[in-house]
Amino acid sequence: MRTLITGGAGFIGSHLAEALLDTGHEVFLLDNLSTGSINNIIHLKGRPGFAYTIESITNEPVLAEHIDWCDVVVHLAAAVGVRLIVDAPVRTIETNVHGTEVVLKHAAKKGRLVVIASTSEVYGKSAAVPFREDADLVLGPTLKHRWAYACSKAIDEFLALAYWKEKKLPVVIIRLFNTVGPRQTGRYGMVIPNFVQQGLSGRPITVYGDGKQSRSFAYVGDVVRGVLALVAEPRAVGGVFNLGNPEETTILALAERVKRLTGNRSEIVNVPYEQAYEAGFEDMPRRVPDISKIQALVGYEPRVSLDEILAKVVAHFQSHPNEG
Ligand code: UDP
Repeated sequence: MRTLITGGAGFIGSHLAEALLDTGHEVFLLDNLSTGSINNIIHLKGRPGFAYTIESITNEPVLAEHIDWCDVVVHLAAAVGVRLIVDAPVRTIETNVHGTEVVLKHAAKKGRLVVIASTSEVYGKSAAVPFREDADLVLGPTLKHRWAYACSKAIDEFLALAYWKEKKLPVVIIRLFNTVGPRQTGRYGMVIPNFVQQGLSGRPITVYGDGKQSRSFAYVGDVVRGVLALVAEPRAVGGVFNLGNPEETTILALAERVKRLTGNRSEIVNVPYEQAYEAGFEDMPRRVPDISKIQALVGYEPRVSLDEILAKVVAHFQSHPNEG
């Protein structure tokens, strides 16, 4: 199988590329390095079946040529991370909406299977936890930039499903829940790399808000397995799937675990949201996936627990002290 991964030099893309190469497939990455990094894929250079182009997906002639080559497109190129979304709202909307638009347009010309990476953020403030794929989306007002990310990804989902309905383009939509693991950067706000780097450097661990908000963290290797299982399953086409690990933790409990694990002696400090992000920032109180749909279709089960994930991330930052 030949797979084109847009955003392939990002954290998830680089793990997906590695898994495909390990199982004898060919991989082409297209990435403009806006948030991705050559460091994520340097270890793949020279492997048989591996190639990449540093270019934006909005360069349509280049995109079309790459889509022509592949059997499957996994579209991961996007503006992600709450910090980036709050700081660069124009870029978030344009990248996420226009990027997906051109990927679907060119994939439709060739009839290629497209996996669209969406996000658990689309469930917004919904209280219907755990979230099911057919549940209502509950978003805040347009005056709060955070919701632009969920809206941009919801539009991506609508457009992909429209291509399936109207043009019979095979699409699979995955809603990723807080995916974590080695090589994820803390630069765009993600909590685990930030906490682990703070823990290892002896700085205070910064919990935003009161820390009672919860998240469910999935190991990137588990997520990659889920993506590959869906790609291989013809009945996944036209479907929307939660992809995550239902193990839930509050952010305060996460900070305490990281503090213990890294031997950090500083205090855990609470930072008000308006100081961490911007005035009026809204966070979601709980986020847990219902994974029964993907379980029933492809037998998906997460294998790596939060403790194991944290151990891997700590080991990664210990061996790459200059990252992040
Ligand atoms: N968070 C935190 N300290 C940080 C970074 C994030 O307490 O240094 C919180 C953040 O407010 C949110 C949770 O951790 O409640 C997860 O944040 P992340 O940005 O990783 O993902 P998302 O908000 O998209 O779930």
